[in-house]
Amino acid sequence: MDVQRKLEILADAAKYDASCASSGTEKRDSRDGKGIGSTDPGMGICHSYAPDGRCISLLKVLLTNACNYDCLYCVNRATSNVPRARFTIDEVVKLTLDFYRRNYIEGLFLSSGIIRSADYTMEQVVSVARKLREQHHFRGYIHLKTIPEADDALIAEAGKYADRLSINIEVPEETSLAKLAPEKNVRAIRRTMGRLRLKLDEAQEGRKVTPKGNTAPRFAPAGQSTQMIIGADTANDQTILNTSANLYGSYRLKRVYYSAFSPIPDASRSLPLAAPPLVREHRLYQADWLMRFYGFDVGEIVEQTEGMLSLDIDPKLAWALRHRDRFPIDINRASREDLLRVPGFGTKAVERIIATRRFTSVRSADLARLHIPRNKALPFIVLSDHRPAPHLLDAAGLIERFKPKPAQLGFGF
Ligand code: SF4
Repeated sequence: MDVQRKLEILADAAKYDASCASSGTEKRDSRDGKGIGSTDPGMGICHSYAPDGRCISLLKVLLTNACNYDCLYCVNRATSNVPRARFTIDEVVKLTLDFYRRNYIEGLFLSSGIIRSADYTMEQVVSVARKLREQHHFRGYIHLKTIPEADDALIAEAGKYADRLSINIEVPEETSLAKLAPEKNVRAIRRTMGRLRLKLDEAQEGRKVTPKGNTAPRFAPAGQSTQMIIGADTANDQTILNTSANLYGSYRLKRVYYSAFSPIPDASRSLPLAAPPLVREHRLYQADWLMRFYGFDVGEIVEQTEGMLSLDIDPKLAWALRHRDRFPIDINRASREDLLRVPGFGTKAVERIIATRRFTSVRSADLARLHIPRNKALPFIVLSDHRPAPHLLDAAGLIERFKPKPAQLGFGF
């Protein structure tokens, strides 16, 4: 099988991993003599975010989509009827370097099905990174998927070469994992996450105490992340977010990625027939940001009785509508913590408000400059020239103002 065909199979097999989303970019090239560079081939190239917030393109592939395990939600499981392929270490190294030189990518995202044993597979994955770094002095970004059952020494070596390491927690509840992925062991997953955290902490400490000029041993400077599949089991949003909060707290993860389950060919009967609405994944990301950057607890974000986030409105707006007694908030006096709870206010907008009000009071005309959506924010805030009518905030129908307008379904012609 030629490398091009392997790339087709192994890039397609990697697309279900949400840790870096598929780019979906348009194809462009400079073959007509105009411009420089190309996005072709888009195959296997995804976009991800570097620790400094830059959007970077990564070559996202599996080393192989053959796998000993039979995780029911996975298209690469042992009993799946898909074409199989396997890259050699040198093929992945060469592809990465070729794509890098042509400016298609700024790094590599490498995962693999488990073949022979966890240690053998991890050794293969690490070998790609080792060769790129040591033989070719590759300075681009490397994200490696870690196999939890692999030997500690291999994982330590992976951290030496990778910028980021990730281990997929797969599903939010232990009981679901036992049902859907019987070969996977939640204890091994959590134990390895714990070890990664210790190594990350040690590396951070080392950087602090190492005298100037000496470099402390490097270990995955972009930290560790994980992915949870949403909608493959019956876990509600509250359970999912509780699991995330626990993961962030216990293992200091940089990110939890939520990947809406997508039905796969020849799926097991234990799996739902349809994918959950994509907007559910989006709402979970919004809720995740509220936990990490806006000072919310899970218990505040999800309505206890229902356990699910609203699909119609974002979770901060839903919280504000449940706590109208805390509004309106005077933008020119409120604390940073209270400003962060106003619907439509992002973290940057809050910083800009605080900077602005040091010199002058904030008026309604300033909202556009601060990138604050007027319609969403005005019922909840007091400005020097605006105070919402009391009946507006108390109105039972206020929520209707924010819900998406009903649209007639298309006829397909
Ligand atoms: S171990 Fe990974 S690649 Fe293999 S079946 Fe499970 S999820 Fe898929």
